[in-house]
Amino acid sequence: MKLIYEESTPKRRGVIPPKSGIECQTLVPESLRRKEKAPLPEVSELDVVRHYTNLSRLNYSVDTNFYPLGSCTMKYNPKVNEQIARLEGFTSLHPYLSLVPGGPEKVQGALETIYETERKLCEITGMKAVTLQPFAGANGEFTGVMLIAAYHKDRGDVKRRRMLIPDSAHGTNPASAMMAGFEITPIPSDPKGWVDLKALEEALGDDVAGLMLTAPNTVGLFDSNVGKISEMVHKAGGLMYYDGANLNAIMGHARPGDLGFDVVHLNMHKTFSTPHGGGGPGAGAVGVKEQLVPFLPTPRVTKKEDGTFEVGVADSTKSMGHIAPFFGNFCVMLKAYAYMLQLGAEGIREAAGLAVLNANYLKAKLQDTYKFPFADQICMHECVCTSEWQLEKSHVNTLDIAKMLLDRGYHAPTVYFPLIVHEAIMIEPTETESKETLDAFVESMKEIAKITETDPEACHRAPERTPIGRMDEVAAAKNMILKA
Ligand SMILES: *Cc1c(COP(=O)(O)O)cnc(C)c1O
Repeated sequence: MKLIYEESTPKRRGVIPPKSGIECQTLVPESLRRKEKAPLPEVSELDVVRHYTNLSRLNYSVDTNFYPLGSCTMKYNPKVNEQIARLEGFTSLHPYLSLVPGGPEKVQGALETIYETERKLCEITGMKAVTLQPFAGANGEFTGVMLIAAYHKDRGDVKRRRMLIPDSAHGTNPASAMMAGFEITPIPSDPKGWVDLKALEEALGDDVAGLMLTAPNTVGLFDSNVGKISEMVHKAGGLMYYDGANLNAIMGHARPGDLGFDVVHLNMHKTFSTPHGGGGPGAGAVGVKEQLVPFLPTPRVTKKEDGTFEVGVADSTKSMGHIAPFFGNFCVMLKAYAYMLQLGAEGIREAAGLAVLNANYLKAKLQDTYKFPFADQICMHECVCTSEWQLEKSHVNTLDIAKMLLDRGYHAPTVYFPLIVHEAIMIEPTETESKETLDAFVESMKEIAKITETDPEACHRAPERTPIGRMDEVAAAKNMILKA
């Protein structure tokens, strides 16, 4: 596609605004003024409409096609949640209103919504309190590990500088813990894809601050030893962190709080109806058990005896302070609240059930065609297979298969992640896809597997039907040109 500048024709005009009749006096100093007219594209209204409509069609989105990007939960989010987040009564509020004298009385509705959203998330996670302030999953992790650090420091237990992180954790876990000043001790997985308990035992000690568990882990499995792991870590004086970015796998069925976790973060922009991708905005709510409540970020909304709501700015001298301004991304929270109200307890439980069912359906259907490293276990909301059979037989790798899917109208699954699986293809169908969509995807995956045998060369050439063909991805990453 051409750039709009390349579609320019001298003197062509779209709308010509009427002259204002007001003498314009510029305050821009002479030295800073343009010497020549800005080289803007000269196009008609129709040129503009066509250009941007065609450009928008090059976008791939959940609204247009199936998007099985593992670990990302690219599910369909009902539009009504967007409408609710755009209600003027919410969008016209200034967050300072909640903090100035006399202000909270004017924003009782917003405060109640924050309070109620936190209560619902406490109920879903089994935690005592929740903060909605963090801006993303990783920001939530950072908040969570800072809370763990604050807890140990408050008790004078300052030698706990080590964070244990299984190698099946999401990559942001070690990054967040490192940023919070911890040393990372990786814990290997056992052949089942679970935490190796022997290695955990050896790693534990009085310098361990805690363990961060991604559950389900990045190979899509639920570690049934979680109770035992929690017991071991607690016995050694550490706290348990639950990476609940993918809570859509368990919500309504199990609660991190009941499983022994002390801190949990959730990705509102995965599980709770804010679209994921495009760079935000998101929210990474963090829930904590009783002993960590005093360290939560401020401000906090509390309910008074008379049923009204107030904001405590410095109600705790132990608070870690702010992780984001005010109450975080308020609109993201509104979408989550609307989503939870629509689904209700039963709906939330059902959504998780469908997410898991869909992933297991794909796994069962593809099991004869692709190699599944943990084939004997039921997976959670996503399944991980590999192209090892195809690689051995015809030298077609995971990247080729991902590119072949693009030609068939699909977004590629997550590839080469998790790192502990060779040639990984990580598929997350999500709870919102129908059986027909999944069946069509299975057909495409099978067709691709056939082509890997009959015409492996074609696999290396893919994609051939997309606006841009196979790219030099190393050059694209190392030599980024982000503007024309
Ligand atoms: C997506 C994800 C994260 C990170 O969330 P961001 O909002 O991208 O920072 C962390 N952990 C897991 C398991 C995830 O899937």
